[in-house]
Amino acid sequence: MEERKFICVSCPLGCSLNVIINNKGEVASVTGNSCPRGTAYAKTEVNDPRRVFASTVRVKGGRLPVCPVRSKTPAPKGKLKEIARAVAELNVKAPIKIGQVLIHNVCGTDVDIVASRDLA
Ligand code: SF4
Repeated sequence: MEERKFICVSCPLGCSLNVIINNKGEVASVTGNSCPRGTAYAKTEVNDPRRVFASTVRVKGGRLPVCPVRSKTPAPKGKLKEIARAVAELNVKAPIKIGQVLIHNVCGTDVDIVASRDLA
């Protein structure tokens, strides 16, 4: 058995979660949560931690030299450095539309990198 502590970030309340993990690596219990989303968050943090990735990409011929981007959905935490390298190598031609997919299935994660704004 292992005990881990997390802060649930699913809403601004930020409940402190105590998570008991059994010998098989499974979540055995979650306490400290004020709603079921805390349990779901703890299970994701233990089994498949993910984060929204945000950065900028270089733009050719745009009104600005860079455009902010983010992952359309949270990406696996263990892949964030690899994703950052892929995004750093990207050069995009203007114009760009907000939500435009700039990298599909980045680093084989099933996550798309999309533009966070329009750029003429
Ligand atoms: S457990 Fe529920 S109430 Fe607490 S931070 Fe998470 S989502 Fe908010």
